Amino acid sequence: MDNREEIRERAEALLRRFYGYSSFRPLQLDIISSAVEGRDSVVLMPTGGGKSICYQIPALMSEGGITIVVSPLIALMKDQVTALRSNGIPAAAVNSMQTDEENRHILEQLFSGRIKIVYISPERLLMEIDRWSRDLPVSLIAIDEAHCISQWGHDFRPDYTRLSRIKELFPHVPVMALTATADRLTRDDIATQLALRNPQLFLGSFDRPNISLRVRNNPGKKERIRYISTLIERYRHDAGIVYCISRKAAESMNDDLRALGYRSVVYHAGLPVAERNLAQEKFINGDVQVVCATVAFGMGIDKSNIRWVVHNNMPRNIESYYQEIGRAGRDGVKAEAVMFYSYSDIITLQSFVDESGQQSINAEKLKRMREFAEASLCRRRILLSYFNETMDHDCGNCDVCLNPPERMDGTVIAQKAMSAIIRTEGQAGFSMLIDILRGAARQDLMLRGFHLIKTYGAGRDLSYAEWNCYLSQLIQLGLVDIAYNESNHLKVTQYGAEVLRERREVTLARYKEPERLKGGRR
Ligand code: ADP
Ligand code: ZN
Repeated sequence: MDNREEIRERAEALLRRFYGYSSFRPLQLDIISSAVEGRDSVVLMPTGGGKSICYQIPALMSEGGITIVVSPLIALMKDQVTALRSNGIPAAAVNSMQTDEENRHILEQLFSGRIKIVYISPERLLMEIDRWSRDLPVSLIAIDEAHCISQWGHDFRPDYTRLSRIKELFPHVPVMALTATADRLTRDDIATQLALRNPQLFLGSFDRPNISLRVRNNPGKKERIRYISTLIERYRHDAGIVYCISRKAAESMNDDLRALGYRSVVYHAGLPVAERNLAQEKFINGDVQVVCATVAFGMGIDKSNIRWVVHNNMPRNIESYYQEIGRAGRDGVKAEAVMFYSYSDIITLQSFVDESGQQSINAEKLKRMREFAEASLCRRRILLSYFNETMDHDCGNCDVCLNPPERMDGTVIAQKAMSAIIRTEGQAGFSMLIDILRGAARQDLMLRGFHLIKTYGAGRDLSYAEWNCYLSQLIQLGLVDIAYNESNHLKVTQYGAEVLRERREVTLARYKEPERLKGGRR
């Protein structure tokens, strides 16, 4: 095809005819044109952005050519194939979930030219690749969830690294690598690992303005449950996800919600496959209102009425957070993302980082996540800037925008906290320090003689929640630090010591009572 105008006309006609949509979303047409022109590409588009159409339409445009779609999500292939077939597009999947008989039948159809789009898992493709490269007229190879190829990505799959064979065996076939989650490092790595030739990069907008963003600093268990219940009730006919930090935590959240009479299921990688599939099915079919899950849940979930996502703990990085909240509101209608976070999350996540292979990168990512959680600037601006997208105005749909912090003089608070830390000789953790300041009669506190120090009870005038808020800010401001490797005790930093010595003024954001959430329906 020689010119873009012609490509556009044909592509639009196919979009109307097979999908019933009247226009392309941003980038879709450029991506399609690039593939039709035979170029390699890396497509970075948020979940729900409409990636599938980017390779499906070129598949329909090629006469007699076959499009191979490599995907690690075997469970979802069936849905994709069913959807395509119901739109009249001859598609099929080859994978280990089907019987040998079924696979054989599909291969026959494939080789007799009766299939245009074939979905296949990476390991299966590697089995078939020699024969396919010899005998099939392949016009395009799409690699979905392409971040799995990168060790930097959050979902590395060893099978994916062997996909570099694709370019060896199909040197003249354009390859389109698609993902919803890749920072610059991952993105470059995808192109390198797949040996793409001069790939065009398509960066979709990461803004999802319909999702409101909220972060709650260290709510207690009751408050968490109350918050989640409110969301369930607000969207009682739709669905939501609660992401938890561990399998055990997901189980226990599920138990709590069920005990309150909500229809909930649990999903994590420790469950037998059958049970997991059943949970996913119930969620997709709308049999349950909520799924309590670990990060194992959700890749590729295509459900339009997920109205809310709660992170019961801070995710390990912004990519994960963004991908997880992006499962809500895929229909463009109002949705809510709420994150609870606490210092114990940071401590746990820090230990994951320490155990991980890429300590420095993961530590940096965690730091960025934490800055997001602790921010007193528009959260969407921070989020988008992380993905190298600039936004020149505040969003008006995050907790910071809706409820900007009031500033106050926090000098005395800072002095009390820092002097208590010094007097405990850096032997107290976060909550212990608050209890010391508030003069609590906690036994372990007394055993260590902390009730004898001069600042014991010096902060009685403030509630635990207030101290929690202010102490967090002192950490954010860099006056106080948590020694993660030394039982997470608090230390006054050099900067903090200076401020204390010179009696410098400290400005803090005033504590606000948690918003009251109204229950009931929308
Ligand atoms: P992704 O793979 O990027 O997560 P999908 O390809 O599943 O996203 O698309 C998400 C939804 O958007 C699907 O329901 C799809 O039919 C719809 N969609 C895609 N392109 C368009 C378009 N041009 N106009 C309207 N809806 C679209
Ligand atoms: Zn905002």
